[in-house]
Amino acid sequence: MLRGSLLAAGATSVFSGTALALPSAPGTDLPGTGIPVPCETPQLWPGDDVPLSEILDQLEENWGFKLVGPYWVNKHRRAIQLVWETLGAVSCTPYLDTLKEKVDGRVGLNAAHISGFAWGDWSLTRSGYVTFDFQKFGDKIETDPGRMARLVIHELGHVYNADRHRNPAYWRRFKKLFAKHGRFSSYAGRSVTETFAEVLGYYVGRCASKNPYDTGKFDEYYEFARDEVFDGREFGPEPGIPSDCSAQPTPTATPTPRPTPSWIRAVSRG
Ligand SMILES: [Zn+2]
Repeated sequence: MLRGSLLAAGATSVFSGTALALPSAPGTDLPGTGIPVPCETPQLWPGDDVPLSEILDQLEENWGFKLVGPYWVNKHRRAIQLVWETLGAVSCTPYLDTLKEKVDGRVGLNAAHISGFAWGDWSLTRSGYVTFDFQKFGDKIETDPGRMARLVIHELGHVYNADRHRNPAYWRRFKKLFAKHGRFSSYAGRSVTETFAEVLGYYVGRCASKNPYDTGKFDEYYEFARDEVFDGREFGPEPGIPSDCSAQPTPTATPTPRPTPSWIRAVSRG
């Protein structure tokens, strides 16, 4: 779970320089979220002119999540775009496939009201679904878009962690790290499962306000996320260097030209 009330608001950090150079892979920035996408062929947001129904169909098809709930509507188009861009950013890593395997593919995305303070949860509001309460974002959707990336990866992180009771190798490694370093974010506090979700959420959401990795104190958590979960792909500069989160226009996909129907070709040939 991730609760907005406990997250302090803050200005997006801006770092001018060459810190975004990613030696691991050629990257395309998606500045809407401030996530450098380490994938060669990211699925770009279809564009603001594309009807939402088409976008949602594509979203389901691209990433194989069933979408349910009343908040997949134009009013929350910006939030939906950020969900899209976050999924796109990690789609060349094993993250999504791995977490789906752990629950035998039984995970969908629910966009709906969550009672209480939570902005997102896994399987609480609706069993087998990650739920996002887009309504709670309000103005933060523009002032701290990195928070949405953090939220999406955080909640999916709980799905990833659903096999912890079998004590797999990654979880044994993480528990050792937690015993050594403990507290990572103010939200997660002393909870090992929330810390795990935050370590992943902030790793991808490098532009999220007050990112603990910016302090340079959490290199080992960073290396865990990079090597154990995201297959060496990185979403920003090395820890200790704030990500460049300055706003630029979001690139969008070029619409595919529709083929001319054969009857038009026949007519124009005369
Ligand atoms: Zn959580």
